[in-house]
Amino acid sequence: MANYNPKSLKAEEFIHDGEILETLEYAEANKNNMELINSILEKARPQKNGNGCVCQGLSHREASVLLACDDPSVNKRIAEIAEEIKLAFYGNRIVMFAPLYLSNYCVNGCVYCPYHMKNKSIARKKLTQEEVKAEVIALQDMGHKRLAIEAGEDPVNNPIEYILECIKTIYSINHKNGAIRRVNVNIAATTVENYRKLKEAGIGTYILFQETYHKESYLKLHPTGPKHDYAYHTEAMDRAMEGGIDDVGLGVLFGLELYKYEFAGLLMHAEHLEAVHGVGPHTISVPRIKKANDIDPNVFDNSISDEIFEKIIACIRLAVPYTGMIISTRESEEVRGKVLNMGISQISGASRTSVGGYTEEERPHDSEQFDVSDQRTLDEVVKWLMECGHIPSFCTACYREGRTGDRFMALCKNGQILNCCHPNALMTLTEYLVDYASEETKKVGFELIEKELEKIPTDKVRDIAKKNIEDIKNSNRRDFRF
Ligand code: SAM
Repeated sequence: MANYNPKSLKAEEFIHDGEILETLEYAEANKNNMELINSILEKARPQKNGNGCVCQGLSHREASVLLACDDPSVNKRIAEIAEEIKLAFYGNRIVMFAPLYLSNYCVNGCVYCPYHMKNKSIARKKLTQEEVKAEVIALQDMGHKRLAIEAGEDPVNNPIEYILECIKTIYSINHKNGAIRRVNVNIAATTVENYRKLKEAGIGTYILFQETYHKESYLKLHPTGPKHDYAYHTEAMDRAMEGGIDDVGLGVLFGLELYKYEFAGLLMHAEHLEAVHGVGPHTISVPRIKKANDIDPNVFDNSISDEIFEKIIACIRLAVPYTGMIISTRESEEVRGKVLNMGISQISGASRTSVGGYTEEERPHDSEQFDVSDQRTLDEVVKWLMECGHIPSFCTACYREGRTGDRFMALCKNGQILNCCHPNALMTLTEYLVDYASEETKKVGFELIEKELEKIPTDKVRDIAKKNIEDIKNSNRRDFRF
């Protein structure tokens, strides 16, 4: 019988089933213990520290107590503190990205995914380098600067060499004022050697969703193919970090298993990365199962309501305050609008989940991975974000300045966000507005930028940002950054 040990490199010791079950019992037993709940909420709040703020975060046990509590006044406070943390560390910036599907060939049998090997009704496609180029130009023409590449697992059709070649192609394309400045990668668990190759290719975050932390369910949901190996999949982030990748992105596919179990597992995974590698996950994603070719989401009986979904996001924000949180177009405009105030820091826009989808006209496409709920254009999403008081940011500076892993966390902790990320967001938003936005969006954007510039605390930084913004408006020069 395995023992719980967050520092162990063995999946079943850092994601310890017994510890999760005890956590759930503890949370259930204490869900009305107001003294404990108040102390947990107090611990979660940002504390002033010199010019900046610090947050202690919460353990998986503490956060599970908050998740279990169903008192409406506690839920309200959780949402308020989530927003407080979001504003303290991320401000009102929301980072924009788009997924790029390279290939949907897959040898796995994941029962929730339309790419599963036995699915004969989905069109199988793999982009050639010419097609990658065309997709990237279409994405650049919308204004995207940051991509997440996606592919099924297939050592013959999508070997690591193919993924590396695609990354090289993507970074090489400069079309008009466009350039993809950060490529994040969401491909199946692989070897340390392959992670090293991805690092050398200049990737940003390596993203891999656990799908479920519950081993027994995991084995049933992934009945065949290399992904069936629970330990290999769960230990992937340790191999990625060993291979030199210091930004990794976790996620659970909500709907497969009981959400309280997944929530505790997800936080234990984050604690494990911090304990072993000294830095927690760069991002956490919160996908929910969607309808897709050959997939009926109703056959999975652990689906969660929008209210629970929103609460999970707020509780993650309290538990891991320095970790970015991503929401995709699986969610509707309404849900996305709500969770942006509860700690989400990255959002996709105008996504196509099909292979070659950005150069095809009408949806739905025959190779789509799932139904997209938010089908607005990037221009519409950008305008909407600004009208809701957020700053859509196309910034990728941290990554290009080497501020990854714990160096990014240090920036957060010493309060330099307003002097660094805020002006970068405003400059990259100006680039977007000048190069790609509709007249209406431009109007909303330039007014917002004027106001937001005044929030930069240091006079010198504010003056440089103002000058750079004028330069972006008046010339073709791009890519100013702090
Ligand atoms: N093949 C890679 C892997 O094994 O991780 C890449 C994953 S896939 C392109 C991206 C993610 O989409 C999966 O990890 C899964 O969580 C999610 N996904 C799969 N089927 C889905 C569905 N029907 N609805 C919503 N999300 C789904």
